[in-house]
Amino acid sequence: MQGVIFAYEPMIRLAAFGGIFVAMAVWEFIVPRRKQAIGRGWRWPNNLGVGFVDTLLVRILFPITAVGLALLAQARGFGLFNVIGVPALVAVVASVIVLDLAIYLQHVLFHAVPALWRLHRMHHADLEFDVTTGLRFHPIEILLSMLIKFAVVAALGAPALSVLVFEVLLNATSMFNHGNVRIPSGVDRVLRWLVVTPDMHRVHHSILVRETNSNFGFNLPWWDRLFGTYRPQPAAGHEAMTIGIEQFRDPRELRLDLMLVQPLRGEAGSYPLGRREAES
Ligand SMILES: [Zn+2]
Repeated sequence: MQGVIFAYEPMIRLAAFGGIFVAMAVWEFIVPRRKQAIGRGWRWPNNLGVGFVDTLLVRILFPITAVGLALLAQARGFGLFNVIGVPALVAVVASVIVLDLAIYLQHVLFHAVPALWRLHRMHHADLEFDVTTGLRFHPIEILLSMLIKFAVVAALGAPALSVLVFEVLLNATSMFNHGNVRIPSGVDRVLRWLVVTPDMHRVHHSILVRETNSNFGFNLPWWDRLFGTYRPQPAAGHEAMTIGIEQFRDPRELRLDLMLVQPLRGEAGSYPLGRREAES
């Protein structure tokens, strides 16, 4: 089983990515949630380009994948689940949930610390919200997030299967919950008890600071409710709300090269949690 996972890992990832991406793109085309002012022709090549750079850098810079690290931890016998004996299914489910909690906490951290916000705000500087926003993260944020994931996987002794499931799931849900898709409100209400829905995550991409600093979850919607960061709807409504942050409002800023240097430009802004509390 472990060998199979390792051998087919790139194919499993690519197939899941391609399948979900195309499904979301078609869904957005047929039943969009918001009218977009900026055309796909301008945003999509740049957002996809960032996603490509991220994947390439992770492959080049890290000698091992998170799944590879999980296999290594198992072989060498380090990490919680490789030391204590629990049923395999328990270890897999618990690892996926703990990894998701780690991503939630990491997301809050990237909003709280001004230097980290400079990296993460590139994701928020997208002026529209659709499937490609879910792939638009600064490469340094992706590299830091990989290091955090390595630490969690090693400490937890997370089974390789759980790491693969988690990574494929996160990639898929990130594309889903950034989707510019209309889901009937009754369905959304039920769905958001199980998974972060596009309407739930769109609140997080509002230009309003208090809305940006809510709904940090990517996969499981429970953390926001548990830690008090849940905000059900945007004040202005989904159609009228403004997407993005106060900085970088010029559509030219959506170009790949400008996105990459955004962390170095301008002030950290008023979004980081610490800053907001100091000012109010
Ligand atoms: Zn965010």
